[in-house]
Amino acid sequence: MAEPTPFNAAERAAAQRLASALGLAPFEPGWVWLAGAGPGDPGLITALGLHAITQADAILYDALIDKTLLKLARPGAELIYAGKRAGKRSCRQSDISRTLVSLARKGKRVLRLKGGDPFVFGRGAEEALALARSGVPFRVVPGVTAGIGGLAYAGIPVTHRDTNHAVTFVTGHGADGKLPAFDWQALANGSPTLVLFMARKYAGEIAQKLIAAGRGAGEPAAIVSDASRPDQTTHVTTLAELGSVALENDAPAIIVIGENVRLRDGLDWLGAMSGKLLVADPLGTRKLSDAV
Ligand code: SAH
Repeated sequence: MAEPTPFNAAERAAAQRLASALGLAPFEPGWVWLAGAGPGDPGLITALGLHAITQADAILYDALIDKTLLKLARPGAELIYAGKRAGKRSCRQSDISRTLVSLARKGKRVLRLKGGDPFVFGRGAEEALALARSGVPFRVVPGVTAGIGGLAYAGIPVTHRDTNHAVTFVTGHGADGKLPAFDWQALANGSPTLVLFMARKYAGEIAQKLIAAGRGAGEPAAIVSDASRPDQTTHVTTLAELGSVALENDAPAIIVIGENVRLRDGLDWLGAMSGKLLVADPLGTRKLSDAV
């Protein structure tokens, strides 16, 4: 991708005007802001996250953020790639924390920009703890997690009172790279909807374990890849088929298992924009008299 063009003076002044209209916190020198950029669509960053980009002297950004956001950085701001992708060469966590500390100690305004929400399966808390241990002041700017916003872009609500009163976020990738040791019986019984991060590799094993613990092989599941990006794809399948579908490619994906997946037939608003017909009663539970 070509280097983004920095904002000009008038554009920067407009961004500053917006920040003061909203009364946003000032980004002080020597501080680190740990912010979420959302799942992909740059429009999903928060106002505070955007403000931080315009103010930062140094931005350490992840692989999963949309690079057009960096266009808003100050001219001369240091843009440092600190990405990780499963199986690819990546920056060490300790190097990232060390860089954050050393830039902050030089009196820079340091922005750590992470995909989704920084405290959801993204090691943001580890980085924040390293800052705390070093006595570097920091602020956390939450973001839209792929596990909620990414599903919303696929027309799948994480909750609906006719399908699930609870939702569980699960990672398929433990600290050692393996599937963490879950209590599968408890997950199967207590989690009507499961939202899986980093779980392509072990999706088949997860599905088998859930089926063995009593979940239906025909239960709906969906794999939402590159959620909220121009190349977003959604593959609706069943628990029995999930493993093979998940291995079809390696784009970042959120996997959702549960009856709420059926709501996509009525709520795929992105699909509707390109002509897909939405089903009026995707769960088949509404009475005729419910029509508004
Ligand atoms: N902090 C992030 C998650 C980081 S873990 C968040 O809150 O969203 C990285 C995993 O998040 C990916 O392997 C994938 O499972 C998921 N992910 C992040 N962005 C995604 C996207 N745009 N589409 C689908 N999955 C995504």
